[in-house]
Amino acid sequence: MSGNGESQGQDSQTARTRNWRTATRLVRGGLQRSGFGETSEALYLTSGFRYDSAEAAEARFRNEAPGFVYSRFGNPTVATFEDRLAAIEGAEAAKAVASGMAAVNAALMCQLKAGDHVLAARALFGSCRYIIEDILPRFGIKTTLIDGADLDLWRSAIRPNTACIFLETPSNPTLEIVDLAAVAAIARSVGARVIVDNVFATPILQKPLELGADIVVYSATKHIDGQGRCLGGAILGRRDFIENTLTPYLRHTGPSLSPFNAWVMLKGLETLDLRIRQHCRNAAEIADFLAGLAPVERVIYPFRPDHPQQNLARAQMELGGAVVSFEVAGGKAGAFGCLNRLQLIDISNNLGDAKSLICHPGTTTHQRLPAEERHRLGIGDGLLRLSVGLEDLADLKEDLAQALAA
Ligand SMILES: *Cc1c(COP(=O)(O)O)cnc(C)c1O
Repeated sequence: MSGNGESQGQDSQTARTRNWRTATRLVRGGLQRSGFGETSEALYLTSGFRYDSAEAAEARFRNEAPGFVYSRFGNPTVATFEDRLAAIEGAEAAKAVASGMAAVNAALMCQLKAGDHVLAARALFGSCRYIIEDILPRFGIKTTLIDGADLDLWRSAIRPNTACIFLETPSNPTLEIVDLAAVAAIARSVGARVIVDNVFATPILQKPLELGADIVVYSATKHIDGQGRCLGGAILGRRDFIENTLTPYLRHTGPSLSPFNAWVMLKGLETLDLRIRQHCRNAAEIADFLAGLAPVERVIYPFRPDHPQQNLARAQMELGGAVVSFEVAGGKAGAFGCLNRLQLIDISNNLGDAKSLICHPGTTTHQRLPAEERHRLGIGDGLLRLSVGLEDLADLKEDLAQALAA
């Protein structure tokens, strides 16, 4: 655990963690019990830490002695969450932050400088596009957005000064797949770091670091919490990057994760594997069900045979994910009619929740984009994004059938 004492017990704990399989790491990774021997992870709701002497304070501030200093820099509950995430991802190190957007922003800003170039896939979460298109250029950073599915475009758009590549796969909301290994190879030719927003795939379904990516970011708000309670985010990668490039940026800019939220996320991780597998089973069945309903013109789900990149999706993801997107007849009016008739599934822009949530990306998450750019991304006026929850499939099917019957 970063910033804490390296006792004998901890060393053997780490050694054991290394051999555990994912489901065990999700439940026990990073766990360090206090002297009370509590079974559940302790919640250290404290902003500061006391020192036994003035000399001890001095040594800790000089980073010459282990231990926590201030919760903006590190906190035992947050560190447990970071260690557990790193163990699951197979990353050397991780830092947790207050939201997914704090993670995306910090992953980019901690390493970029004026004169750098950033290359990104066009199909991104709306706020990620805002950072790349609106914020970075204000600081003298050039950015290029391309169609992420076209490898020739990655090859032709990369420049000698490309410092970072940013992408999301599957993408939100059109579930486009980017070939991670191929893009990582292109990035290596100029020494660019590949940052993957792995929210839709989760650490259970896809391991970007094994495919050659350098940095993985998460919104823990989504599947990691999984029950719609807390915001959170994380950045994972090599120890040198996390400790020497990212950590100073986080320490001095302060997007810290609350220990309480870290504790909720730890409890979320314990059931992540179970939940994700059930989400995926439900989503795959709902996708096939929707495809058989008359008003549905198109269903997008990565593991369906009619997904144009099904083979790539199956090669780099274990299952198809929790999100199904579909286009209904009648454009915006058709889509709004369906939303307003739903009785069980909630209209909400969150995803990865135990509750099934549905939204109309064109007027919510992606409303900032001009209509032509939305259409270029395949976000039609009738497109709906459904995050399939953990309810009984028969109830979900009944609700969708009646909402789409009119
Ligand atoms: C939700 C989301 C984010 C942002 O996460 P927050 O926790 O809401 O800040 C970033 N990327 C993707 C793909 C997301 O779905």
